[in-house]
Amino acid sequence: MTSRIDLEARYCAQNYKPLPVVLTRGEGVYVWDVDGKKYLDMMSAYSAVSHGHANPRLVRLVQEQVAQLSVVSRAFYSDKLGPFLERLCTLTGQDMALPMNTGAEAVETAIKAARKWAYSVKGVASNKAEIIACSGNFHGRTIAILTMSDEPQYQDGFGPFPDGFRLVEYGDIGALEAAINKNTAGFLVEPIQGEGGIIMPPAGYLKAAEQLCRKHNVLLLVDEIQTGLGRTGKMLACEHENVKPDGLMLGKALGGGILPVSAFLARREVMQVFSPGDHGSTFGGNPLAAAVGLEALNILVEERLAERSAELGDYLLAELAAIKSPLIKDLRGRGLFIGIEIDAELAQAREICEALMQRGVLSKETHKTVVRLAPPLIISKAEIDWAVTRIRAVLQDIGRLRLAS
Ligand SMILES: *Cc1c(COP(=O)(O)O)cnc(C)c1O
Repeated sequence: MTSRIDLEARYCAQNYKPLPVVLTRGEGVYVWDVDGKKYLDMMSAYSAVSHGHANPRLVRLVQEQVAQLSVVSRAFYSDKLGPFLERLCTLTGQDMALPMNTGAEAVETAIKAARKWAYSVKGVASNKAEIIACSGNFHGRTIAILTMSDEPQYQDGFGPFPDGFRLVEYGDIGALEAAINKNTAGFLVEPIQGEGGIIMPPAGYLKAAEQLCRKHNVLLLVDEIQTGLGRTGKMLACEHENVKPDGLMLGKALGGGILPVSAFLARREVMQVFSPGDHGSTFGGNPLAAAVGLEALNILVEERLAERSAELGDYLLAELAAIKSPLIKDLRGRGLFIGIEIDAELAQAREICEALMQRGVLSKETHKTVVRLAPPLIISKAEIDWAVTRIRAVLQDIGRLRLAS
């Protein structure tokens, strides 16, 4: 394994710090390293692999579609894009979609749509439109998106940044109301902050934000790139509070764990601000991506993955809560989207993840103190039990060491 790690270290930009494991194969909830050791994937590529690795329905479909047609660009129509977006809009209750590839591109699209809507529909003065975002947010890594970040490392050395963004405290509805003014185009929010550390706002926050947005003619832009598509136990996390966004971003699991597929969805009145030439992407909405996206959605519905996530997520959370470890400072989550916050005085989340890896469970820390658990939604109860046994053992081992010292 070390030769591959060294090779990557020599030729790949060091913009990540991977766990020291070299993977070569995946099937369902499992991945194997180059030495043949098997691991249970409790991270699913930041929720992109909700359907499991090498999902047989998706593999079959990709093989057929690759042989038929992959990429034509939007210079032409394809027979796959319409059916995909029809299904996507129907399932999410939105009128229209703009297909992109990565999550960050879907968020950029939302920002562009909101700004243009502000000028052409709301009547905001030229170049004055503002987007309000939340403290602790993560919406991707482009310059405009980074402008909204309050994580110093994300911005450090990358300025100057564009104007037109404001931050309010996540979960504080009064702060949102105070920040809205006549120039506010949209409020961009994650229903649960994933990269922020599986942070859940107070119950009713999203609903109250929706009401405020309606009252002040502000677009509610919900980033469900990580929380959407069954991850939190509903098709969309905003369904937990019966919230209907004016603009919605999806990505990650939309590509079935195979391709980058993302979309910005919106009400017709919002999407209509785009005319030919306003925005685009060479690969966005290509026939291969559209075919994969449609099948990924069909699998979600037919295999009831959102319901599974709700049921098994409750089960996993209860099992974890039964582990009485002084290392656990907090435990939170919804569906199969769970964070274990580690007491930073006693241990680092990273060392927990390394110890879990030794025992065959893959996860990744977020924000130094949180171990994220977001397995493929096809995981079984027995596999969860297997993982919980390892998690308990690791917490007990490290806890014993720390309390002894
Ligand atoms: C991952 C993520 C993004 C960015 O997606 P990329 O595909 O990495 O560009 C945006 N928003 C949220 C909430 C995410 O979790």
